[in-house]
Amino acid sequence: MYGVIVCSECRKARGVSLSSKSTQCTHCGAKLDVRTAKIMFKSEDQAAIREAMGIINAAVVGREDEFEAAISKLQEKAAPKDGILEYADEEARIVEAAMKVPDWPDRYLIVARELSRKGSFTREEYQEMVERMKGPFDADEVLDQMLGSGMIFSPKEGHYQVA
Ligand SMILES: [Zn+2]
Repeated sequence: MYGVIVCSECRKARGVSLSSKSTQCTHCGAKLDVRTAKIMFKSEDQAAIREAMGIINAAVVGREDEFEAAISKLQEKAAPKDGILEYADEEARIVEAAMKVPDWPDRYLIVARELSRKGSFTREEYQEMVERMKGPFDADEVLDQMLGSGMIFSPKEGHYQVA
């Protein structure tokens, strides 16, 4: 698996093999720790990695608004073909958005709402996000409560969506 990381010194994106421990920035020579670096994008496909690097380099020079759209377009384009591309930071982005509000009930709802953007979500997907937030309730409890109060509904067996 390959990934794209951004140099902590010069902000240039570079592709790395995710099995390597460290790498050197080809632009400024800084030593980068792959294990602690934020992985912006992951793929088995080196062409997709190069394309993602281009997009990320464009984004760090000040076109942040185009970054998300470009990444999701890249993901859409590649995902149906082989299913191996993933936007590594999507889950982190949702958790971050949820943790910005002060109350746990709102946080749980924000996660459900964000996951509903792509249609419905599964109990497992919700569980994974709730575990990342390390909140006071477990995912099953929260989902059942939201179902009971009509905040979410189940469009089909095992799938949920914000009403
Ligand atoms: Zn650098």
